[in-house]
Amino acid sequence: MSFRAPKGTNDLIAQDAWGYLNICKQAAEIFFRYGYQPIQTPTFESLDAFVRGIGSATDVIGKEMFYVNSATSLEKLIAGVELKADERLALRPEMTAGVARAVLERGVVVADGPLVKLHYAGSMFRHERPQKGRLREFHQIGAECIGSAEPTADAEVIMMFIHFFESLGLPKERFTLLLNSMGDEHCRPAYREQVKQYVLDHAGQLCEDCLRRADTNPLRAFDCKNPNCQSIMAEAPVITDALCPECADHYAEVKRLLDKAGITYVEDPYLVRGLDYYTRTVFELQSDDGQGAQNALGGGGRYDRLLQEFGDKSIPGLGFAIGCERLLMALESRGLKAVMPSVQVYLAAASDDARPTVFLLADELRRNAFSVEIDHQSRSLKSQLKSADRLGAEYLVAIGSDELSCGVATLRSLREDFSVEFGLADAVQNLCIIMQKNKC
Ligand code: AMP
Repeated sequence: MSFRAPKGTNDLIAQDAWGYLNICKQAAEIFFRYGYQPIQTPTFESLDAFVRGIGSATDVIGKEMFYVNSATSLEKLIAGVELKADERLALRPEMTAGVARAVLERGVVVADGPLVKLHYAGSMFRHERPQKGRLREFHQIGAECIGSAEPTADAEVIMMFIHFFESLGLPKERFTLLLNSMGDEHCRPAYREQVKQYVLDHAGQLCEDCLRRADTNPLRAFDCKNPNCQSIMAEAPVITDALCPECADHYAEVKRLLDKAGITYVEDPYLVRGLDYYTRTVFELQSDDGQGAQNALGGGGRYDRLLQEFGDKSIPGLGFAIGCERLLMALESRGLKAVMPSVQVYLAAASDDARPTVFLLADELRRNAFSVEIDHQSRSLKSQLKSADRLGAEYLVAIGSDELSCGVATLRSLREDFSVEFGLADAVQNLCIIMQKNKC
């Protein structure tokens, strides 16, 4: 085989793909209870939308973007011709910027208009160094609640986020919800300066990356994985001491609501999250599953300035994104891997003259909500029985010349000691009655 999947990508096949579909379905069901409707946006957007939304000083924009070039734009680039704004495209590294662009462009949100709640699932792309739990194309499930600055919206979003994880059967005790407030445009700039000064004061002890970002994004030093930097940054000034009264009140109210709702969290004043658009509440769910540095299953926060970056209206919002690959790993490590639905009935042709009957009966049964498989490879009865076994079929019906001439066939359970004869004339009706009786 000469082709391999590109580095940092994954193939989800059969059972693994069921796992992904199941969590997407579960998310849609849970989020719907909270009033969320689905949204799909393009996989690629204008590069400028991401730069504007996410922030040029973030790793996602600075290091990890996948650019999209058509043959024409590539030719222009090679010839040294500058691309126009609408020719500069990139694969989405996250979905919030695309959702913000979409709801503004389509007039779905308006300033002081009704709340808009949307959820999504899809592929995201970041050119990171691949490792377990860190891919270049990965999948996220997420939700965005746009139009409320109230702390009740923060609390509800966090409660829905936790509810989703719990609904999948993940035990609460093995996960930690981290919570922080990042302040807003009134209090964060001064705090940023404090942290910048702290980083510069400790220049000799911090890594190159932290120093390089001291000017543009000093708060990223809190996310540095270097143990040395982590111990230095553990002594840095904390944002919670620097919040303005409005942000402090907002944060206190979010915590009060979560306490009332029985949501357990740990305050982490160093939780800053990687994207520039966050203001006030930020949160992250970490698993203690031994996924090393990749233990964040999902996270999110408030982004009250993001929509303003895209339009002229100040519309607050918040949301979260959950990494599907990491979630599936966490489920698997707890024995919660998706069960692949099995074929209900295998219809075997015991002789060639029965093949047309088998073919049509299979179709009728499928139209009556049964999952049915038949042979398409001119296999012997013995091989067909092996296929039924391999597929984990619950029932087998073998139809041959004898069954055709007497008009009666046998439904045989492949799991229990059960078999019953049924008339072929009203085969579907008969099978429906038998299956219902046996609660198939
Ligand atoms: P973020 O959009 O960076 O806030 O990430 C939200 C969630 O997406 C994280 O908590 C991870 O579970 C997941 N995630 C982010 N980046 C990656 C990646 N490169 N590979 C796999 N999952 C990722």
